[in-house]
Amino acid sequence: MSYSNLLECTRRGLYCPAGDFYVDPWDRVDHAILTHAHADHARWGCKRYLAARSSEALLKVRLSNSIDLQTLDYGETLRIHNALVSLHPAGHILGSSQVRIEVDGKVALITGDYKLQPDPTCSAWEPVRCDLMVTESTFGLPVFQWPETQLVIKQLVAWWHENQKQGRTSVILAYSVGKAQRIIAEVVRLCGVEVAKDMAVHGAMLGPNRAYRNSGIEIPDLPSAASLSSDHDWSKALILGPPSSQGTGWIKRFSDPSIAMASGWMAIRGTRRRRNVDRGFVLSDHIDWPDLLRAIDACRPETVWVTHGFTDVVARYLMHQGIEAEVLQTHFSGDESEPIISEDA
Ligand SMILES: [Zn+2]
Ligand SMILES: [Zn+2]
Repeated sequence: MSYSNLLECTRRGLYCPAGDFYVDPWDRVDHAILTHAHADHARWGCKRYLAARSSEALLKVRLSNSIDLQTLDYGETLRIHNALVSLHPAGHILGSSQVRIEVDGKVALITGDYKLQPDPTCSAWEPVRCDLMVTESTFGLPVFQWPETQLVIKQLVAWWHENQKQGRTSVILAYSVGKAQRIIAEVVRLCGVEVAKDMAVHGAMLGPNRAYRNSGIEIPDLPSAASLSSDHDWSKALILGPPSSQGTGWIKRFSDPSIAMASGWMAIRGTRRRRNVDRGFVLSDHIDWPDLLRAIDACRPETVWVTHGFTDVVARYLMHQGIEAEVLQTHFSGDESEPIISEDA
């Protein structure tokens, strides 16, 4: 099956010839549609952008206030030359979208990063019927099956309380756009908003937190740990920092901290030790194996293009199921790339 007028993978990114636009390009192009605000999808320097209305505040924090950005509500359709374009919730982070492109009755769906697990900080993923589906496979192995979020948050709060008893600061390493806000929202939902007085964040999270609040997501206005006085008592505190803060001077301000990491990679034995953290919480904003199969089943594509992650495994599995599948070489990295200790973990 050829989709040549609908979508092709070029050296600048995924391109729709009929609409003359790119989706999450990795080069500076004239017209870019962005699935979400993470750095491997939203690049600076394009002339015009199109994205979901709910992603506007976050995109402007990450790119610039001065970008030329047109927004669409989820489900709203826009004609761009000979293509019909609409955006649908991806459930990944605030404002994350799947891009539906229709040309001559054929439909492509670019899912971006997505997950099916409930998340109080963004709209829930919706299935979109399509002929060609482009999916990530960051966690595309049967070993990745996420536990219930409520259960993970309960474990996290129990760990925090245990540290409080021992007078140790609890530090959670989590990606500063999406994961951090999700954890804050879930902890407050479980424990009540009064626990916010014992919580603080790394300065890198202030901008994203503000963008979430400005977009109507209820998370408390937590202070930056660095802004509090040097004799502040941290013994009861829960602090969120990006994975890149591990081993830096920022973390050394806390006396005898217990350090945890919240990531899908924590599902694999040995990762916690390799990452040199005391606790691992299995919490991911990416789709796990059973949900990946469920999502493909619900969208009923004829062809699937598989990008970043365990692409070969997923493509082979789908072909066994009678679905045409191809591995796509893209520049998307997955926000939880395991081997690199960066903020993207
Ligand atoms: Zn992402
Ligand atoms: Zn990504």
